[in-house]
Amino acid sequence: MMSTPHRSAPGAPPARPRIPGAPVLSRASFGGMGAARPLSVLDAGAARLVTSGRIAIALALREMKVKPGDTVLVPAYHSPSMIPPVLACGAEPRFYRIRPDTSVDLDDVAARLDPSVRVLMVTHYFGFPQALATLRAFCDAHGLLLLEDCAHGFFGEYQGAPFGAWGDYAIASSMKFFPIYEGGCLVSARHPLSGVKLRSPGAGFEAKVALTTLENSFAYGRLPLVAALLKLPLAGKDRLWRALKARRAPGSAAPALAPGSSDSSYDFDPRWLDKRSSLFSRLMLRLASSRRIGAARRRHYAALQAALAGLPGIRPLFPALPDGVYPWVFPLLADEPARLARLCAALGQAGVPYVRFGETLWPGVDASVCAVSADLSQRLVALPCHQALTARELDWMLGELRAASTL
Ligand SMILES: *Cc1c(COP(=O)(O)O)cnc(C)c1O
Repeated sequence: MMSTPHRSAPGAPPARPRIPGAPVLSRASFGGMGAARPLSVLDAGAARLVTSGRIAIALALREMKVKPGDTVLVPAYHSPSMIPPVLACGAEPRFYRIRPDTSVDLDDVAARLDPSVRVLMVTHYFGFPQALATLRAFCDAHGLLLLEDCAHGFFGEYQGAPFGAWGDYAIASSMKFFPIYEGGCLVSARHPLSGVKLRSPGAGFEAKVALTTLENSFAYGRLPLVAALLKLPLAGKDRLWRALKARRAPGSAAPALAPGSSDSSYDFDPRWLDKRSSLFSRLMLRLASSRRIGAARRRHYAALQAALAGLPGIRPLFPALPDGVYPWVFPLLADEPARLARLCAALGQAGVPYVRFGETLWPGVDASVCAVSADLSQRLVALPCHQALTARELDWMLGELRAASTL
């Protein structure tokens, strides 16, 4: 999952950051009445729960009957995990420009159209909406299919409708928002998904997901009572693994117990295409409180924004937090790449789990393709604002940010 901390920075962070970089299982994701319920992509239409966002992209392209010779327009500012699903169906990814505020540069998109272009993929960066009504009209005018990449916006509203309601298809990465080890979804407000048939991911996978989710939670001191109760069963886990692995024939082509998408890799493994998300993840999606998750993310984002005011050489990517936005992380910009490098080294040293979204762009995507993307790639870092951060952890992170910014 791409929300795990960056590991290759100079002054590499400790193996386990001091605070969780992604939501871990805790009471912060549950309960909570009162506050308004944020809309989510699952409110937009028919949905299929799979193991990652990239698998959902591949399924969306398959439903759109994208084939060799077709072109898919993808943003020059992207996660490298978005590209292999396009290549897997034999299509050509063609990169278009974004503007400094991360909005789609429709003039550039128009300039890149030719009869081979079938799909426009757009990303709601960090959970902030693209101009969906305009994009829908553009696609209708040019006979394109619209794919909304809501990987950063599982929750979100635009002009009163949920993210995903404008696209022909939408995808999300549930593991970026919920305390789960795997999970993505494919949604369509306009087309039936009856052709998408999913199978059980298998008992080994079910066990691995449940145990890993619990272990990640215990590692950060959450759910101490549950941890104590489960101490004995978890001690037998290694034996269980050996037993499960032994059941697979040596050298067999059976998929690994979990897809690479769950382990900070950009890998695309088509063997997970027809696999349903685990029972554990699906249960979490159902039990979790979107009210609490949404409210906590906004509160943490606002605290980061306030802390950033007045710090030298860094500013938020977005000037404000609009209603209806439930951010994935808090993106900030350094005034120059050298300052970003110093900042990241200091944050890493302290154990702050930062994310460098877009640091690695697909080969060939440079300033000549999109100057804004190349620039963001070198000046942007994002900090966690997820619901599972405690008040103490947030305060600690704000302190580290202040200290790091003066270097
Ligand atoms: C993470 C991400 C994806 C893919 O999601 P996974 O669940 O990691 O496969 C797609 N698009 C964007 C913009 C992402 O950040």
